[in-house]
Amino acid sequence: MNVIKRLRRPPSEVAQPDDQPMKVLQGVGISQGVVIARASLAYERPLPVIEAVPSLLGAEAERTRLDQAIALTLKQLRKLRGKLDTLPDEGRIEIDALLSVYERMLNHSRLVRAAHRRLAEDGLTAEAAVQLESDALAAQAGPQPGMPEEEIEGAKRREGEFREVARRLLRNLTGVSFRAFSDIPGGSVLVAEQIRPADAAVIDPNRIAAVLSEGGGVTDHTAIMLRALNVPAVLAVPTLIDHMQEGCLVIVDGTTGRVVLHPDSATLAEARSAMAEEARERKGIGRLRRLPSRLVSGEDIELLANVELPNELPLLHRNGAAGIGLLRTEFLFDESEALPDEDGQYAVYARLVADMQEMTTTIRVLDWGGEKGLARLRQLGITDEQEEENPALGVRGLRLLLRHPEILETQLCAILRASLEGKLRILLPMVSSVNEVLATRQIYERCAKRLRRRGVKLPADLPPLGVMIETPAAALTAGALVRQAEFLALGTNDLTMYTLAVDRSSAMGSDLYTGLHPGLLKLLRLSVDEALRAHRPICVCGEMASDPRAVALLIGMGLRSFSMSAALLPPVKRMIRSLSLDACDELYRRAMLEEDPLALSAMVRHFAV
Ligand code: PEP
Ligand code: MG
Repeated sequence: MNVIKRLRRPPSEVAQPDDQPMKVLQGVGISQGVVIARASLAYERPLPVIEAVPSLLGAEAERTRLDQAIALTLKQLRKLRGKLDTLPDEGRIEIDALLSVYERMLNHSRLVRAAHRRLAEDGLTAEAAVQLESDALAAQAGPQPGMPEEEIEGAKRREGEFREVARRLLRNLTGVSFRAFSDIPGGSVLVAEQIRPADAAVIDPNRIAAVLSEGGGVTDHTAIMLRALNVPAVLAVPTLIDHMQEGCLVIVDGTTGRVVLHPDSATLAEARSAMAEEARERKGIGRLRRLPSRLVSGEDIELLANVELPNELPLLHRNGAAGIGLLRTEFLFDESEALPDEDGQYAVYARLVADMQEMTTTIRVLDWGGEKGLARLRQLGITDEQEEENPALGVRGLRLLLRHPEILETQLCAILRASLEGKLRILLPMVSSVNEVLATRQIYERCAKRLRRRGVKLPADLPPLGVMIETPAAALTAGALVRQAEFLALGTNDLTMYTLAVDRSSAMGSDLYTGLHPGLLKLLRLSVDEALRAHRPICVCGEMASDPRAVALLIGMGLRSFSMSAALLPPVKRMIRSLSLDACDELYRRAMLEEDPLALSAMVRHFAV
């Protein structure tokens, strides 16, 4: 959405500097966009202190009060859900999922059962029962001493969910009204001490210009929602409330996290030109989306998107991706909960595949190991293998799944069922030898047979099975692999790491980690040549695919399909539309003659500048 459109106040009203001295605060930029608007503070009346006192009304009456408060809360949530239709897709998906969590917590949940028990056994008031039980459950769900770092965010989220449901019940029980954002003047910056995830559901992105809060963090639910709603936002701004006044002029920069109160004329002018630049960029991307991804010389180049979460799909469609080239399923399911069974996984894949309509979704089976999925491996009791000194060299990807075939079978069955909803391909990660592919194909066919016995009407030709080329061994034996696979995908992230012996996630080695190395190019060429000789599709789905100049070189190598993060697709498309095949061929020819990695990098960096 164009941020300028959000400013409903006439420009004269927002453009004049205040008389007060300018103040710059630094928070965490959560959702991109620069906005100039007036601040509007959202206050919330506090709840009274709730004491654990016996009820004067009796257990039966308290039970009725509690049940009525639950019914009212569910009704309010339904009303909120009714408003979701007006939100952008990303926001609707996120908030819908959160409201479902709240609804589950109000339906015969642990919280409700325990509160009922408290009423019956201890004779407490409904308020006290809700408060005590929600506190206990929130404390159990929240971060625990010694909890691994990667589980803390999820624990905090679940703790927050218990507290939010309790807050809603307590407001309904005590009659202390909720904070409403509806009286905030249109076009204002919403300022609050804290924005809760459910608050995001009542933020109308067409009315609220931006969001600022003193609390919050980058990865919490609120941040995810605000990004999904595409509302520029800066959270975690220290001393925000102390410095803020109702109606004061403020500049919010959701990219840098900078917040300027009472901006002077020079700062206002700067912000205005940043807004104009953003608007131009958005307009350009909108136009580009409808244009074909084609070289000047006429060859079509396929641009696909890498996806980790379903809420990336709207951006994928907006930026005009032709399909999903890599769905990293290891990020699809919340690691703090049990891995869904076949039905649970099927529901997620089927929805994604159906959403892609005529386009193909490439679903990669779970690529756990290395730095990924450690909490999940611990949960499933398969960590021992991972407790190695060099996890990147440990048992990961397909090798790990072949040691735990039950996990692979469940996933393959779910994917096969989802294939009835649209077009999909299956991709195998971290392959190092042909026998791994053969073993997987046997399991794959066994799964299909089992499903057919169960009455699932799978077509005679199963979805194509492809292999990631991301180990040097795979690249060097690409000829054998491509005979056993229907397509190849070049995972340049890991292939670079394993070829150059530089950890892809280490900040220390970052100057050594480059895909533009003669050794890597030779491995890529081997794989491309084998795929082309066998007439099998081949695609690049590592980060190299999002570097427009590296893409030019790879087109010269013979590649015609690239998959990247959806946000990075427009610059690649723009570059493709400016190049001829001859120019790409020439770059490739010169690059393959270069032996010095630094000179090679410089050559590509300076190409077509
Ligand atoms: C790769 O290694 O290039 C790749 C695409 O896989 P991932 O980044 O998920 O390891
Ligand atoms: Mg990889």
